[in-house]
Amino acid sequence: LSDRLSGVFDRLTKQGALSEDDVKTALREVRVALLEADVSLPVARDFIKAVQEKAAGQSVTKSVTPGQQVVKIVHDELVHVLAGDEGEIGSLKIDNAPAPILMVGLQGGGKTTTAGKLAKRLKEKNGKRVLLASLDIYRPAAQQQLAILGTQIGVDTLPIVAGESAVQIAKRAKQQATMGGYDVYMLDTAGRLQIDETLMKEVEDVRDVVNPRETLLVVDGLTGQVAVEVAEEFDAKIGISGVVLTRMDGDGRGGAALSMRAITGKPIKFVGLGEKMDALEEFHPERIAGRILGMGDIVSLVEKAQETIEAEQAERMMKRFQKGQFNMNDLKMQLNQMLQMGGMEGIMGMMPGMKKMAKQVEESGFDDSILRRQIALINSMTKKERANPQLLQASRKKRIAQGAGLEVSELNKLMKMHRQMSDMMKKMGKMGKGGMMKQAMK
Ligand code: GDP
Ligand code: MG
Repeated sequence: LSDRLSGVFDRLTKQGALSEDDVKTALREVRVALLEADVSLPVARDFIKAVQEKAAGQSVTKSVTPGQQVVKIVHDELVHVLAGDEGEIGSLKIDNAPAPILMVGLQGGGKTTTAGKLAKRLKEKNGKRVLLASLDIYRPAAQQQLAILGTQIGVDTLPIVAGESAVQIAKRAKQQATMGGYDVYMLDTAGRLQIDETLMKEVEDVRDVVNPRETLLVVDGLTGQVAVEVAEEFDAKIGISGVVLTRMDGDGRGGAALSMRAITGKPIKFVGLGEKMDALEEFHPERIAGRILGMGDIVSLVEKAQETIEAEQAERMMKRFQKGQFNMNDLKMQLNQMLQMGGMEGIMGMMPGMKKMAKQVEESGFDDSILRRQIALINSMTKKERANPQLLQASRKKRIAQGAGLEVSELNKLMKMHRQMSDMMKKMGKMGKGGMMKQAMK
């Protein structure tokens, strides 16, 4: 698949702005990649639409092809969708001890294993006292399975009492967690092979007894679409706070993660990467995105190319500034950069020796609309005038101001600013503070 993708992208080798056709061709392949990674059709469709809007009109960085650039945009959007709101990944609400955590899901999804992994993590990373309780009264030896795990990882488990119902065990766990001074108690519920009413009712009852801080759905990441349907059902009936995708060590392509996130809107908090007790990781959106696309190399290539271009540009400008050459083209580039970097205040604050100027700028009520007007003024200068600002005499000034639909007084201000900056560049050049300027332009 990757081969086919890069084949298409290689053919899109011309430079310049991304054309609609470039984007369409590339996205057709990306759509196939998504579907092959088991992303559901409606999710893939919405996703492609979002990328299409983002890609429209973006310019292509030198030394990468439009196709590669599209992959980068696709990758970033994947990460964006997968990451969701900040702070959700890998975090659990475990304040107000004892905090109940409810583990739900189908049989064989990895609930018991994940309960053990999370307990170990909470104990070792967060220094929490954890109590584990198995509510699985159906599968023979399920409660013993958890007890053995508990011993392995050095976490207490609720003593087994024969003949209790799931709700009774939950009540006992709550009591013991409170009296025993535990920070967290985790309830490992029974699963079924399929969602059925009895299972849901039981989990609902348990939920109502303990009022969990987290209800984690544990699903097999290899089951793709099925996992997403399971998540929807559990969320509708029980209400889940997050998802753990297990078996991500397998060769599934991770598309389930995208559908999961897009359809349920629930954060994927952890991924299971094996059967061992430390095979649990926080969810890394970049890794899954790379896996879905299978194109991690292209993404880093585009990033590197973009960085190189910026560095090259800065280097060239530096050399000229040191020689005292700072013309209107340079100024325009700076103005554009300021716009990109969050306006005048942002950038001036970062430049050494410009703090004072930044303050003056602020006091004069400078804002981004002024930056845009200044760029318009420079745009209406001729090539020759931009390269040699000293040419700008009265008649030329009038023509330029008119061309930009602005007053000559604004042009005068722009020219004054240019002179000030130019003087400063010269001084800095003489002082040999090249490194400083370079830093300022980053
Ligand atoms: P439960 O029925 O939901 O409690 O599922 P279990 O926790 O008993 O897990 C079922 C099987 O899946 C066990 O053999 C686990 O070792 C295995 N398992 C669980 N999580 C993972 C994982 O992330 N990767 C792999 N490879 N196996 C896992
Ligand atoms: Mg189990």
